[in-house]
Amino acid sequence: MAVFSLSDFADHEQVVFCSDDKSGLKAIIAVHNSNLGPALGGCRMWPYASEEEAVRDVLRLSRGMTYKSAMANLKLGGGKSVIIGNPRTQKTPDLLAAFARALEQLGGRYIAAEDSGTSVADMKYMNQFTAHVAGIKDKPTDEGTRSGDPSPATAYGTFIGIKAAVKEQLGRDSLEGLKVAVQGVGNVGFDLARQLKEAGASLWVTDIHRDSLTRAAEELGAVVVAPDAIFGLDVDVFAPCALGAVLNDQTIPQLQAKIVAGASNNQLAEARHGVALMKRGILYAPDYVINAGGIIDVYHERIGFDRAALLAHIEGIYDNLMEIFARARAEERPTAEVADAIAEERFRR
Ligand code: NAD
Repeated sequence: MAVFSLSDFADHEQVVFCSDDKSGLKAIIAVHNSNLGPALGGCRMWPYASEEEAVRDVLRLSRGMTYKSAMANLKLGGGKSVIIGNPRTQKTPDLLAAFARALEQLGGRYIAAEDSGTSVADMKYMNQFTAHVAGIKDKPTDEGTRSGDPSPATAYGTFIGIKAAVKEQLGRDSLEGLKVAVQGVGNVGFDLARQLKEAGASLWVTDIHRDSLTRAAEELGAVVVAPDAIFGLDVDVFAPCALGAVLNDQTIPQLQAKIVAGASNNQLAEARHGVALMKRGILYAPDYVINAGGIIDVYHERIGFDRAALLAHIEGIYDNLMEIFARARAEERPTAEVADAIAEERFRR
């Protein structure tokens, strides 16, 4: 298969294919851009149907990390890695150790963090063999400590981002009485819903796990709806917190919300769906800008954790979004396109 000519290859600096016979490791590490610092991004383990699919995924995701970190004003570049295999059946200590040794050979050009199919515990295990993993340290909170899991930081950043979108689109500072539909009440979605509830919002939620829905209904008083019904609700904000490509030809015509602002990655099925949202007068908070709390959290772990500095940095998502919204309004361009332009200005500087 061709690699350099793939559109996703863009201008990647380095792509490394790693294998280890003994453990069965087959992995790809992609460093898209390191102008601003070492490339940091998740390590995903997934049973890809083909090697081509794995290559495309790692390239697309690593490029996205460059934009995300630049937009969040982090001294980090963009990178990602994928391990080909089923995390439930093929993730062994030997395989993780072999992958960690591959990271070590890159000398810190790429730093791995947890992602789909890998966990904080996996990163901690790999840390025995390499220093180049992140998201592994416990952090202080009001209630005690929390693990390296960046989800709470992502949820907080998304909450701040919704405030910015509400200010821009509805001219309000308060979320009191705001109607929000949350798609997916997992790690991020539930915590986001809790903060929205505390700020006075009313909630509608959906998920494919009954237990998560029961918890949201009982603890947050959320109204539970079927997965397909979440798009057409008469709400102010639609917050995707489950999966990608949820803004597409089928769903956009159904939306009654005036704002789409949630934590999911890659929400737009295609770039043209950003235009479709703009034409419908729906304000879209670009996914990688609003969901940057997690990478900001991981970055602060690396520079020496200071809780006040972390919260201030996450709260910067508000100003980032306001800059994007203002420019998109002035230039009559989709917010996603403007976000990319600003990120490029930052990492190509
Ligand atoms: P999670 O797996 O804990 O939660 C996702 C939830 O969505 C689950 O409860 C799942 O049952 C539900 N779901 C799956 N398919 C669904 C469907 N079709 N309809 C409704 N619900 C569905 O994941 P998470 O860590 O909360 O992440 C949520 C999203 O945010 C993902 O897209 C993730 O990539 C993105 N994100 C997460 C972080 C982070 O720090 N965890 C950071 C950036 C982006």
